[in-house]
Amino acid sequence: MPKMRAVQVARPGGPFEIVEREIPQPGAGQVRVKVQACGICHSDSLVKEGHWPGIQYPRVPGHEVVGLVDAVGAGVTQWKTGQRVGVGWHGGHCGTCDNCRNGDFFGCTVNLQITGVSFDGGYADYMVAPAIALALVPEDLAPVEAAPLMCAGITTYNALRNSPARPGDLVAVLGLGGLGHLGVQYAVKMGFRTVAIARGKDKEPLAHKLGAWRYLDSQSLDPAAELQKLGGAKVIIATVTNGDAMSAVTGGLGINGTIVVIGAAQSMTVSPLFLLSGRRAVKGWYSGTAADSQDTLAFSVLSGVRSMNEVYPLEKVTEAYERMESGKARFRVVLTTGH
Ligand SMILES: [Zn+2]
Ligand SMILES: [Zn+2]
Repeated sequence: MPKMRAVQVARPGGPFEIVEREIPQPGAGQVRVKVQACGICHSDSLVKEGHWPGIQYPRVPGHEVVGLVDAVGAGVTQWKTGQRVGVGWHGGHCGTCDNCRNGDFFGCTVNLQITGVSFDGGYADYMVAPAIALALVPEDLAPVEAAPLMCAGITTYNALRNSPARPGDLVAVLGLGGLGHLGVQYAVKMGFRTVAIARGKDKEPLAHKLGAWRYLDSQSLDPAAELQKLGGAKVIIATVTNGDAMSAVTGGLGINGTIVVIGAAQSMTVSPLFLLSGRRAVKGWYSGTAADSQDTLAFSVLSGVRSMNEVYPLEKVTEAYERMESGKARFRVVLTTGH
């Protein structure tokens, strides 16, 4: 049997192990993908550290996968070998439970599948995914460019396009990291008056390079007060993982404003009086399905939005992961297989 390299986590908290495995065969309804690139997302730590319930180990992480369709299983009619595809966090759903019937596939109560969590992901030469989890990747995007868009990209793009903001509205993006640097670009290209908020004067040139209309340094001024001076934000997208930073900007919401939380912070505080007196809202957003990923990729080609990446070969997975964990990566870390 032909073999491949895979990076597995053998137990919660265990190290990454580069192992040789047989190349998996796609079952009915599944597709085998020859992986070209896979982004390292902070959520991969859920697998590495065992912080997601019910994971069966050993497990291969990775849910920002881009590669070529290499083989299709029985009953798969929508994909053929050679097509370039991406696989993101949402790895499948039952299609028949009440949430699925309402189109809320992420809320599937019967068979919610998560790539690199429920089944092996993209830290490998090959992976097998449900056909339903695949997005078509445009030719204009290199694998390394497309990979981070499968989680960081779709999350920010989908949160923005499903928010109440309309072209010309004041939209703030809190954080200029892996999510935020994409969020600012998407917000600009969607036609919002985009305000980037981060810590430190040194981030200002980056914010403007990404197209931001204004930059607010939250270390030297009160971002909530500054947003109010600009008329109050229609939407704030909170990409950071710091609840205090989220709490500090919420006061910048205008009338009918919404703060959309996509960073996994532990908690945040908000004044009920502030919410009710301005009909304001706090809302969360989850990334999206394969169709949303495909929209994200197409919009990124159309508008020129790109992720800035640091690229490592698969063998250097431990170094690459530590770089992501350090918070110093500018801005997403991507593994490549050489295919
Ligand atoms: Zn992710
Ligand atoms: Zn379902």
